[in-house]
Formats: sequence, structure tokens, C-alpha cells
Amino acid sequence: MDVEQYTKRGVPLPVSDFLLLAIYALFYPLVFGLLVIGLGYLINNDLLFYISLTVISLGLFLTMLLFFYKSYTELRSHAIEVAHVHFQPSWREVIIHLITQVYSVVFLGILLAIFFGSTIIDLPQWQYLGLALIISLGYQGMFIILSLNSKRKLLATAQTPVSTEIVNHVRQNHPNNHLINEFRFADVELASLFLSAGVMTLGWKKNICLISQYFNWKLTDEELIAVLSHEEGHLARHHIRTAYLILGTEGILRTFRIFIVLNALILILNDLPILAFNTFSLIFLILIILVFLTSTCLVLTQRYRVYLQEIRVDCYGGNLVGHEILANTLKKLPSIIPAPIGSHQLDFLTFRIALLREQANKLKSKTE
Ligand SMILES: [Zn+2]
Repeated sequence: MDVEQYTKRGVPLPVSDFLLLAIYALFYPLVFGLLVIGLGYLINNDLLFYISLTVISLGLFLTMLLFFYKSYTELRSHAIEVAHVHFQPSWREVIIHLITQVYSVVFLGILLAIFFGSTIIDLPQWQYLGLALIISLGYQGMFIILSLNSKRKLLATAQTPVSTEIVNHVRQNHPNNHLINEFRFADVELASLFLSAGVMTLGWKKNICLISQYFNWKLTDEELIAVLSHEEGHLARHHIRTAYLILGTEGILRTFRIFIVLNALILILNDLPILAFNTFSLIFLILIILVFLTSTCLVLTQRYRVYLQEIRVDCYGGNLVGHEILANTLKKLPSIIPAPIGSHQLDFLTFRIALLREQANKLKSKTE
């Protein structure tokens, strides 16, 4: 290896990238949380505060349920389109995720009881919500720093630019190519296998498309262009922003979850039964159920959205380069790339290929 290889640097992360994450993933839940806390401060009556919190949670739940229902039915309609491939969203998943949510909250409760059980004192409810918000955003901040760190590591390996012929072709033929500022090959580690190729934001209106080095060796120029067109679709459909907004919404729901755990702890520590049938405990129970259901809806919606995003973006890419070409490119993936998002991934890839072929056939029969 020559000396130049060692001194070469990857792409650095600009400050605007941190700002973007902070705004969508920290500022948005912070504003929402502060509004609810402010409401509690204004009401200054615990029962009324519980009631308004339950109403807010109901609103959140209904919104999330709508998103969930929409993505569920859309994915299901695609599943019907290619009925010969076994890939369907199922109600079993809902149950599994609900149980997971309950478990994780109980676990959190036990942790908080062990570490802070004796120090928890009787405060107004809105102050507990403030505490929950701080814990939630602290966790979020830590998560963001960790993911930025792995992003930085990956970008450091992004040293080989994609050939000028390919980039020029994309620049001349693709409608939204201006959304991508850089095209590079990177050493995608085993830990992030999903990134066989992907787009990443580098801050305001600056995006990079990273492609696994493996593709550089294995794919033809035509196939590489197919991969790039798929990635361009993610930016044209604002998928990065959606991902950040979901991260922010997770922050809000985490705050609510920590809040109900803190409340349950206080009730237990003060020997107040949660299951007593007075107005307080009844509203609290409804709140708990709503928070669990909303969290489950969010997790599942997010999962289905990831699938739907790939399907929609395949359609976008297929329209640009031809569905058959994109399908053939995807066909090259399974043998080398094991399950990245959940165990269904190989099924999902087959599903995507089948959908693309279906689309190609439809177009063919239309022109005949
Ligand atoms: Zn994709």
C-alpha cells in the first residue's frame, strides 16, 4: 500500500449535521415536553393534570394508530400483489411488540426502584414529567452521540469516489440528482450490513451516497447506476428527515413511559394501590394502557415504514433505470448480505424483487 493511502482522509462531518439532528431529534421532543409540563404548572391540580395528560396521550395514540393502519394496509396490498412470495405483516407481531414494551417498562421500573427508590419524594405531577423529560432527552443525546460516532467512522473510510462516467450519467439523466453532493465507496463493516448502499445527510442540503466497496468490484456500471437511482429516491422522498422526526417522537413517548413508571413507583412507595377503583387510579390505568399501545404502534409503524420506503424507492429507481435492471441488481445481494433488518430480510429482498418484476410485467403488457 502506498503512503498516499494512509494520508487520505474520508469525508468530515460538518457542524450543520449536529444542528440538524439536534433540531429534529432533541428540540422537537423538548418543545412538546415543555408545553405539557407548562400545562401541568398552569393547572396545578394533579387530577386535572392526569386528565389532560390522558387526553394528550389519546391524541398521540389515535395519530399513531392512523399511521400504523395506513402503512399496514399499504404493505398488505403489496403482499397481495405478489401473493406467491410469502411476506406479510401479521397481528402476531403486534402482540410480540406489545409484550416487549411491557417488559421494557417493568424493567425500567425495577431499575429506578433499585437506584432511586428511597430518594423519590412527593412532588407535583408536572415536576415528575420534567424529570422524565430530562432522563429521556439525556438518553436520546447519548444515543445521538454514539450514532454520530459510528457515522464518522464510516465516513472516514469513504475515500474512493465513484467513477466520473457514472456520476456524469446520473447528473445528466436523473431528475433529483442535485440532492446528492457526493458519491463514494466506503468500507461497510459487518455491523452495519444494511448499508450495502445508503444515503447520509451531512447537514443542511448536503448529502452523500455511500456504496459498499464490494459493489465496486461486483457490479457493472449499469447496475451501479441502478443502485444510485434507488438511493436518490430516498432523498427525493425525504426519508432522512422522516427518520429524524421518528427519533424525536420516540423521545416524547419515552418521556411518557418514564413518567408512568415514576408515578407507579410513588403509588407503590406510598402504599396506594394502583388497582383501587377511584378516579385517580382509573385515569392512571387508562394512561398506562394508552402509552403502551402508542409505543407499540410507533415501533411497528416504523418497521413497516422502513419496508414501504424501500418498496417506494425501488419503484422510483425502477422508473429511472428500468424495473428489470434494478430487480437483477437486487438479485445479486442475498448470497453476500445476510439479514440486516430483522430475520425477515431475505424474505423481504425476494419480496422486493418480485414486486419489481411484477411492475416490469405490468408495464410490458401496457405497451403491447
Ligand atoms: Zn434503500
